[in-house]
Amino acid sequence: MNRRTFLATGAMGAVGMGLSGCAPRPQPNLTPVRPALDLVPVRASWDRVIRTTVGLRPHRDAGFMLRPDKLGDKLLVHNYGHGGAGMSLAWGTGLMAAEFATEHDSRQAAVIGCGSVGLTCARQLQRRGFDVTIYAAAVPPNVTSNMSLAGFTPLSGLVVNERRTPEWDAQFRRAAQIAYRQLQLLAGPHFGVSWLDNYSLSDEPPGQGGGEGGGNSGPSLSAGLNTGQEVLGPGEHPFPTKYAIRSPQIRIEPSIYLENLVRDFRLFGGKIVMRKFDTPRDLAALPEPIVMNCSGLGARELFDDKELLPLKGQLTVMVPQPDVNYHTNGPNPPNQRPGSLGIHMMARSDGIILGGTSQRDVWTLEPDEDERKRVVDAHIAMFSGMKLPKVRRT
Ligand SMILES: Cc1cc2nc3c(=O)[nH]c(=O)nc-3n(C[C@H](O)[C@H](O)[C@H](O)COP(=O)(O)OP(=O)(O)OC[C@H]3O[C@@H](n4cnc5c(N)ncnc54)[C@H](O)[C@@H]3O)c2cc1C
Repeated sequence: MNRRTFLATGAMGAVGMGLSGCAPRPQPNLTPVRPALDLVPVRASWDRVIRTTVGLRPHRDAGFMLRPDKLGDKLLVHNYGHGGAGMSLAWGTGLMAAEFATEHDSRQAAVIGCGSVGLTCARQLQRRGFDVTIYAAAVPPNVTSNMSLAGFTPLSGLVVNERRTPEWDAQFRRAAQIAYRQLQLLAGPHFGVSWLDNYSLSDEPPGQGGGEGGGNSGPSLSAGLNTGQEVLGPGEHPFPTKYAIRSPQIRIEPSIYLENLVRDFRLFGGKIVMRKFDTPRDLAALPEPIVMNCSGLGARELFDDKELLPLKGQLTVMVPQPDVNYHTNGPNPPNQRPGSLGIHMMARSDGIILGGTSQRDVWTLEPDEDERKRVVDAHIAMFSGMKLPKVRRT
C-alpha cells in the first residue's frame, strides 16, 4: 500500500483532534521509501524560556450552550462554553447566535464578552446590519482567548460523548463548518491565520497509539473538517520516533488575530464599554433590546450555570525561532491518563509555544510547576533527539 495514501481520509490529526474508535489499520512497511524530510529542530532548553501563561478553558460536559432565552422583555442569546475549541468554533456559533437575533425587530445588540466568542459574534451581527456595543470586564490581551495555543481544534475539551444529543451534534457540525470556512478566508498575515504542517509523533503504528486532546468525541463529528494525512515511517522524517503523521492544520496567532478583530469591530462602528456584570438584573438595565451572552467562564456566576467549569491549561513559551514553521503533537507515554492532553509544540511569531495540560475544575491562574517541568523537559528530550537538516550537518 502506498504510504502517502493509506490514511488519505484520516481526520484532522488523530492525535491532535482526539479522535477515537479508529478501525485497525494495516501495518506499514518499515523500509524508508523517500529521503528524510529536512526540518529545523526547535532549540529547546530552559534558558530559552521567556514566559508561562495560564488560561481557564470554559468547559461544559454537555458542550457549548447556544440558545435563545428571555431576560424580561429582552431577547437573550447564550453563546458560551467552548472548552478548548473557542478559537476554532467562534465564527460558527457567532453566526448561529446572530441568526437568533435577526428574528427580533430591533437592530441594536449588546454583546457581553470581548474574547474570541464575543468579538466574532459581534462581527457576525455587524455583517447583518446590527449596531453593536460590546460590554466586557476585560478586553484583549487580558482574556482567556489570548492564552490559547491556538490551532484549529474544534473538538478539543469540548464535550463528553455520553452527554451529546442529536440536536447538539447538529449545532456543532454546522458551527464547525462555518468557522472552518471563515478561518480559511482569513488566512494571511493581517489576521495572523495561516496553514502549517502538524506532525503527530509516535512509536506505535498509526491507529494504535493513544489519543489526546480530550479524546472523548465521536469520529462522526469531524466529517468534512478533514485534511489528508501522510504517514512518514522510520527514515522518512527527522523526529526521534518511528512514525510522524503529517497533516496540514490552521494556526491562529491570538495576539494578532484578536487585535485585528477589535480593530475591525471598531471600524464598523462598534463600541466597547468596560464593565463587569454581577447579576442578570444588571443586564436587564442595558439600553439594547438584544443581549448576547458571550461571557465564557463568567457565565457560571452570571447565569448560575454550575455545569460550566474550567479546564486549566498552561503554555510555556520559548524565544521565537522564525526558521521553525511546524507543529508537533507527542510523543506521549502509552499509559497516559485518559482525558489528559498530550504534549504539543506550536511555532508562532511570538514564540515557540509548548503545551499539554488540562486540569479539570482547577481555578487558579498560578502556573503549576510540576506540569511546566513535565512539558518543557519532554520537549527538550524530543527535540534534542531530532536529526539536523543536511545544510546544518556540514
Ligand atoms: C492553554 C490553552 C490552549 C488552548 N488552545 C486552543 C486551541 O488550540 N484551539 C482552540 O480553538 N481553543 C483553544 N483554547 C480554548 C480557547 O482559548 C477558549 O475556548 C476561548 O478563549 C473561549 O473564548 P471566550 O470568548 O468564550 O472566553 P474569554 O476569552 O475568556 O472571553 C470572555 C469575555 O467575557 C467577559 N466576561 C466574563 N464574565 C463577565 C461579566 N460578569 N461581566 C462582564 N464581562 C464578563 C470577559 O471579561 C471576557 O471579555 C485554549 C485555551 C487554553 C487555556
